[in-house]
Amino acid sequence: MENGATILHLRFYSSTDCFGNNLMHWSRTIQLLLTVSKMKEVRYIVVHCTATPLSQRVSVSDIDRWHKAQGWSGIGYHWYIDRDGHIFPGRPETQAGAHVVGFNNHSIGVCYEGGINEKGQDDDTRTEKQKIALLFVLKDLKKSYPNAIILGHRDFPNVHKSCPCFDAKKEYADLFC
Ligand SMILES: [Zn+2]
Repeated sequence: MENGATILHLRFYSSTDCFGNNLMHWSRTIQLLLTVSKMKEVRYIVVHCTATPLSQRVSVSDIDRWHKAQGWSGIGYHWYIDRDGHIFPGRPETQAGAHVVGFNNHSIGVCYEGGINEKGQDDDTRTEKQKIALLFVLKDLKKSYPNAIILGHRDFPNVHKSCPCFDAKKEYADLFC
């Protein structure tokens, strides 16, 4: 699921070679080469939710911490939209994400904050600001990846949860940039 590029990046961080050159530069070059070959074609744009209740605020750094605790290099989504409609970058789009098993090398992951209502049930808790921000991000992604299909996490095989708690496939079926 994770690629070797990040490991190289960490290993060479702020170190210099025997000629005094900054190896950070080289690690970035290697990372770019590896990640570009990793994310050859984006076939899907996948919508997720944090599956958290309205009483709980979730920041992009919270997700980064949760995903690091799973042993990943950091946040597995490429974009995050909080309840106020603020849009945060997650993992660079040149890197494979960690958000949908078996499809990470060919998909961009977008996550919104929420998905659980006050009764503790799976629900479409998107605020109006979140809906506007989500639409903005998805339209922008379609410009970059016009052939990509927008799906919800639950639309993939062997996914036994209701993420993103609404029918993203239907809602964005006719979305063009
Ligand atoms: Zn999901």
